[in-house]
Amino acid sequence: MSLAEIITRLHKAESAAGRAEGDTCLIAVSKRQPDARVVDVLEQGHRVFGENQVKEAAGKWPDFRARFDGVELHLLGPLQTNKARQSMGLFDAIHSLDRPRLANMLARLAQELGHCPQLFIQVNTGEEPQKSGVLPDDADGFVAECRALDLPIAGLMCIPPVEEEPSLHFALLGKIAARNGLEGLSMGMSGDFERAVALGATHVRVGSAIFGARG
Ligand SMILES: *Cc1c(COP(=O)(O)O)cnc(C)c1O
Repeated sequence: MSLAEIITRLHKAESAAGRAEGDTCLIAVSKRQPDARVVDVLEQGHRVFGENQVKEAAGKWPDFRARFDGVELHLLGPLQTNKARQSMGLFDAIHSLDRPRLANMLARLAQELGHCPQLFIQVNTGEEPQKSGVLPDDADGFVAECRALDLPIAGLMCIPPVEEEPSLHFALLGKIAARNGLEGLSMGMSGDFERAVALGATHVRVGSAIFGARG
């Protein structure tokens, strides 16, 4: 695959869903990819990227940002509170807000620094014990808690269980977002982003289909 092919497929999925082409934000997930592949995608003009780890992002993105204007960087993986401060300066969006302690920390930092990345609340739609995210039943309460802290909640994010039909999870995420008046839906990866677009994804996170297999 290539960036151009993925964009074509994304536009087709948008049209099929009766949505405008370019409606969905394509996050190119560059975690564990060789720098040369990332630079190649930057040189093709793409500017929105996603990383899984704070440490890895801090190691490579300041340099890429210095070389390319207008980069928008999204954190997709779990965030420890001791990396929260660093993340405030590194990322434009964080998709893994998943617990009160982190919400409180981000709110305090946002007050202190006067800015905050866009936040997505991760929902563990499959209720998998090993996965982060708030449980579906706790989502409404957590959204309210985050709003009370004045956090900029852009929407919800999910990673469906590997063995299950992702559409069920995308639909559930959409339902939780709708009843909470949230517009953003971060869902869909290399294997299922078209199904996510059909169910209203505003942000798809595509790694291997753009860059190839990870090291
Ligand atoms: C790695 C990762 C992706 C991208 O996965 P691909 O299957 O390579 O598209 C998307 N979202 C999250 C949270 C990830 O960790």
